[in-house]
Amino acid sequence: MAEEVLFKVIIIGDPTVGKTSFVHRYVNDSFRRDYKMTIGVDFALKVIRWSDRCNIKLQLWDIAGQERFTSMTRVYYKDAHACIVMFDLSQKNTFQNAVRWKKDLDSKCQLADGAAVPCLLLANKCDLGQREVEQEEIEEMCKEHDFLGWSETSVKEGTMIDESMK
Ligand code: GDP
Ligand code: MG
Repeated sequence: MAEEVLFKVIIIGDPTVGKTSFVHRYVNDSFRRDYKMTIGVDFALKVIRWSDRCNIKLQLWDIAGQERFTSMTRVYYKDAHACIVMFDLSQKNTFQNAVRWKKDLDSKCQLADGAAVPCLLLANKCDLGQREVEQEEIEEMCKEHDFLGWSETSVKEGTMIDESMK
């Protein structure tokens, strides 16, 4: 019998950066969409066969149209094990706001042991070729604000989706 481990993973970032598309792309055929209108969150479940003995279940929380810094984000962040902060490479302001999202998370939520929630930074829409943010800036921001790491992605073309999540 394989052990099953469940992790809550939240996805944050400005409107239109590609969060919902990312969840669809990553989860694809096992996609489930449960509308929770009270808090405006979509959930999807991705099961990963990690090893013979372990399945990992990622419960992905998509903030779905509530992308503002309000008291509501505290509810959304609660008990998160990990976080993806996404921005749009072709929209500089979404990169600047990625820092605000990270700070909002850190100010409202920690792991059970008090450590910061591990965050991955995703620079989406690399297919567009309308880059407003250079790699050096991302690298610097990633270090300064304690992200685990970052990757460019194209949800549209399916570039670096599984790789970055792994
Ligand atoms: P959300 O508001 O962050 O959930 O963003 P959506 O997933 O709704 O995507 C916003 C728009 O960006 C949609 O029109 C998507 O088709 C588009 N989009 C998402 N990812 C990409 C990408 O990697 N490349 C391009 N060119 N468009 C994308
Ligand atoms: Mg969305």
